[in-house]
Amino acid sequence: MKVEILGNVQDAGVPHLECSCDVCEAAREDPRNQKHVASVMLKENSDKDSVRYLIDATPDVRYQIRGDYLDGVFISHGQLGHITGLLDFGEEGCDKNSLPVYVTDKTRDFIERNDPYRLLIDKNNIELNDFNDGESLDLQGAEIEAREAEHSRLNTDTTSFMIKGPEKKLFYMSDIHAWTDDTLKSVKEADIAIVDGTFWNEEEIDRYEEVPHPVMKETMHKTEDWDTEIYFTHLNHTNPALRSDSDERQEVEERGFGVVEQGQEFEI
Ligand SMILES: [Zn+2]
Ligand SMILES: [Zn+2]
Repeated sequence: MKVEILGNVQDAGVPHLECSCDVCEAAREDPRNQKHVASVMLKENSDKDSVRYLIDATPDVRYQIRGDYLDGVFISHGQLGHITGLLDFGEEGCDKNSLPVYVTDKTRDFIERNDPYRLLIDKNNIELNDFNDGESLDLQGAEIEAREAEHSRLNTDTTSFMIKGPEKKLFYMSDIHAWTDDTLKSVKEADIAIVDGTFWNEEEIDRYEEVPHPVMKETMHKTEDWDTEIYFTHLNHTNPALRSDSDERQEVEERGFGVVEQGQEFEI
């Protein structure tokens, strides 16, 4: 089983609306500099009949996957970068028929109550399946388990994912407000962990207090020298570690961590 990286930046992508930083301007000037929003595909291989499950439906989903190859979608929580791509499976998009979507009870409630998501159910484009903390699903060759994570001030709760392949366990948790003892334990339990790297430090944006995330510096400090291979995803356009030639990226790599890149694959 493989875990393929489909994107590595925060919900609003690169370029980021109304931002004129050089990362965003370069992305406007040349599409090769654009970066897709964080999500992953679980797959056996690239064959059409291979198992293929998506984690998080991003606003970039139409660039990231081919809908006709998909067995199901796991949604971590109800924010821009994680749920809005579901709309592309509706009648304005590829008009799926009963695509299995795995959600917590609170996310189910949110989808069932709110248009335009509710329309996906009315039109039978998606079929919601319960996937709450501790529940798992057999993926024919691997297993995925829901692990509750901390992301307060939302209308939905937040799930991270422990993916157990025949060889390795990979923990995926792209977007949280804070570490908890349980989520740190999941990182320790895994062979590979791909975790929230939204910000490098707390001074990076003016409104950090409104949108807190564990900063990369803190995460590296907490997990330094652990046996788990740890990678960051969901980087904000402001995060200097997003630039492959920055001093901050060099520090990440020298300390034994990494930043995932679109197209990278992990064999589990
Ligand atoms: Zn996010
Ligand atoms: Zn920017």
